[in-house]
Amino acid sequence: MFAQVIVDIAHSQVDKIFEYSCPDSLCVGSRVKVPFGGRVIDGFVIGVSRTSSYPAEKVKPICSAFDEAPALVPECTSLMYSICSRYRVPKAVALRLFVPSEMRLGKVREAFKNYAVYVGGVKLSASAKKQAEALEALKLEGECDYTSLCARFGRGAVNAVIEKGGARLEKRKAVRSPFSGLPAGAEERVLTPAQQAALDEIERSDKRVHLIHGVTGSGKTEIYLNVIAREIARGRTAIFLVPEISLTPQMLSQLRSRFGGAAAILHSGLSAGERFDEWWRLRSGEAKIAIGARSAVFAPLENIGAIIIDEEHDSSYLSESAPRYSTIEIAKMRAEYNGAKLVLGSATPSVETYVKATEGEYGLIKLPERINKRPLPEIIIADMRREVKRGNNTAFSKALRDELDETLKCGNQAIIFLNRRGYSRTVMCRDCGYVAKCENCDVTLTYHSEENCLKCHYCGAKYHMLTACPECDGRHVLYSGTGTQKVVSDLKTLFPSARILRMDNDTVSGKDGHYNILKKFAAKQADILVGTQMIAKGHDFPSVTLVGIMDADMSLHFSDYRSGERTFQLITQVSGRSGRAGDKGKVVLQTCSPEDYILRYAVAYDYDGFFKNEIALRKATGFPPYSLICRIMVTSEDGAAALEALKGVYFAVEELRAKFPDEFIFLNKMHSPIKKIQGKMRYQVLMRLASGKVLEKIYDAAVAHSSDGVLVYVEENPVNLS
Ligand code: ADP
Ligand code: ZN
Repeated sequence: MFAQVIVDIAHSQVDKIFEYSCPDSLCVGSRVKVPFGGRVIDGFVIGVSRTSSYPAEKVKPICSAFDEAPALVPECTSLMYSICSRYRVPKAVALRLFVPSEMRLGKVREAFKNYAVYVGGVKLSASAKKQAEALEALKLEGECDYTSLCARFGRGAVNAVIEKGGARLEKRKAVRSPFSGLPAGAEERVLTPAQQAALDEIERSDKRVHLIHGVTGSGKTEIYLNVIAREIARGRTAIFLVPEISLTPQMLSQLRSRFGGAAAILHSGLSAGERFDEWWRLRSGEAKIAIGARSAVFAPLENIGAIIIDEEHDSSYLSESAPRYSTIEIAKMRAEYNGAKLVLGSATPSVETYVKATEGEYGLIKLPERINKRPLPEIIIADMRREVKRGNNTAFSKALRDELDETLKCGNQAIIFLNRRGYSRTVMCRDCGYVAKCENCDVTLTYHSEENCLKCHYCGAKYHMLTACPECDGRHVLYSGTGTQKVVSDLKTLFPSARILRMDNDTVSGKDGHYNILKKFAAKQADILVGTQMIAKGHDFPSVTLVGIMDADMSLHFSDYRSGERTFQLITQVSGRSGRAGDKGKVVLQTCSPEDYILRYAVAYDYDGFFKNEIALRKATGFPPYSLICRIMVTSEDGAAALEALKGVYFAVEELRAKFPDEFIFLNKMHSPIKKIQGKMRYQVLMRLASGKVLEKIYDAAVAHSSDGVLVYVEENPVNLS
C-alpha cells in the first residue's frame, strides 16, 4: 500500500503531497512519522492507494504510525482543500487546525492509572500485619487505585500482596475530566409557543443557515439545546460554540444535565491532558457534542447534524492569527459537507449577517419578547458633561450612585461595566462631546503619542494634535476613559460596606479563574461585580437588577467603521444582564454624547431602526458590506527586506488595479499606524475593494512575496487596523 502524506511543515516549498509505502492496515487520517530530507518528520495521511505514481524503488516506507485510530476525521481532507483555496495557507497549516497543538508536538499521551484488583486465596505470614490489612481492604473494596493503596498501607506491603498473588495489578486508561464538580444545569422545560415555532421552522425549512434574532432572555439557549437533542436522537452529532471561554462551564452544565457524558468541552483553558482526553472522547464517538470557543469548530466529529454559534456577532469568531479564518465560514463548509443545520443566534446580529437574513440567504427567526413577557430593563442615560460642570470628578454620575444605593438596600446585585477592549486614545472634548474625525473617511482619529499626532487608520491621513476643542474651545480634549482600579476605589469610598469583586485580565488567571469569580458572584458572596468585556456576554445572574455602563463612548468613538454597531451590541448585551429573574432591571449608561443616534436606538431596544440607519450609512460611505476593507501586512525585523517586499506586493496590486480599475475604491501603501511591534517593522498595503472579486489574486500576491525573513499576510475587514 501507498500513503499520500502532507508533512507537518508550514512552508510553501514543501506544500505538496508526498508518497510513502505503508502497511495495509494504515488508514486515511492517521498521523505518521516519515523520513524527510534526512530527518524524521510528522505527517498526516490524506489518502491511501494500491498503486503508486512513482517507481517502487523510489518510494520510501513510513517510519511508524502514531495512534491506534486515525486522528483526522474523513472530512478533513475535503475541508483542507477548501481552507487552502480560501485562505491561501499551506496544507499542513490547514490540517493543524484539526488536532490539538500539544498532541501534534507529542507533549501529551494518554494517561494510565494502575489499579490493584483483589484475587484472594493466599496465605500471608502472621507477622505481616500491613499486608493483611491491605488484603482485607482490597477484599472489601474489590479493587483500589494503586497509588492511594500504597499511601494507606505502604508500598512494600502492597507490592508483597501482589507478588504473593493476593491481588493483581491492572493498567487502565484514566480519563481526565474537566469541570467535574459543575452544578447541574436547569432541567428541561416545556417550550413556549415561540420557541416551539422556532424549532419547527429550522426543521421544516430547507435553508442551510438560520439566524435566531432574539432579545436577551428570550430563551435562545433552550432552542439550541432542543436542536441538538433532535440531532442526537437521530444518531448524529453537534457542535456548540460560544464566544468566550468563561461561558463554557455554564453551557457545559446545561449540556451535561441533558446529555450526560455525551458532551465534551474543548478550549485553550484546559490542561493539555484534559484537552487530549476530551478530544479523543469526541474522536472515538464516545462523546457526541463538542462545546467550546472558536477553535471548537474543528471538533473531530463525524456525521454532524447541527452547528450552533451563539452570539454570532462577536469579534472573537474571527481568528487573528494564520489562517485568519471566519468561524462562520468554516461552520458553513462543515454544515455543507455533513448536510447539517447551522444556527446563528444573537440579540444584536452583525450587520453583515442581518443583511443575508433579510435578503433570504439565511432563514430569519425573530423572538422579540423575553420569556414570560418579562420587561427589558429600563436604560437611563447619564450625561457626563453635566456631571463635570456640577463639579463631580468621580467616575460615577449621580444617577448611577442613586441606583446603586437603591439596589444594595434591596439586597440585589449590580454589575459595573467598563469598556476597554481595543483600548485606544481618541480626541474627545469632555466639555461638549466633540470628537475628532477624518475628513475623508468619517471615522474617529486615533492619538499616537510617539509622534504626537492624530491618525486615520483607514486612509493613513495625519492631523495635528489639538490643544483646544474647535467647537467650544474647551481644554479637556484627550480622552482615555477610566480604569478598573479607579472605579473600584471610588466604589469603596461611596459604598464602604458593599462587597466588591473585580474581573479583568489582571485579576483572572489560571483555567478556573473566570469560573471562580463568577461562581462567587452567582452565590451572592458579593454585591457588585466590576469588569470589562468579559462580563458582558451571556451570563445569567438572577439577582442582578442594576447594570452601570461607565463609558459608552469608548467604543462609540473607536476608530473602526463598526464602532456604531459595536456600541449598539455592547449596550444591548450588557443591559441584558439586568433584571433576568424577579425584579425589574435598570441600566445606567454614562456618556458624553447623549444625543448620539446609536445610543438612542440602544435605549429603545430598536434593532431594526438601528439596522436601517446603519445600513444606509454604510451604503452612503461605501463601507462593508458595500465594500471590502483589505490589508496586506508586511512585517520583518529587517526593515530593508520588508520595504522590498512591500514594493513587490504593491506593484502586483497596482497591476491588478490597472486590469480592474472599478474594483479599487482606495489603494495605498504606507507604514502601519504602529510602525514597529516587538522589533518588527510593519508596512501595509491598504485597500478598499468594491466587491472582493480580485481577493484571490491579492492573496496570491501576498504569498508570492512572503519569505523566511518577511511575513506577508492578508486581512479582510480586520477588527484592528493599528
Ligand atoms: P437567551 O439565551 O435568549 O438570552 P435564555 O435561554 O438564557 O435566553 O433564557 C432566559 C431565561 O428564561 C433563563 O433563565 C431560562 O432558564 C428561562 N427559560 C428559557 N426557556 C424557558 C421556558 N420554555 N420556560 C420557562 N423558562 C424558560
Ligand atoms: Zn481617513
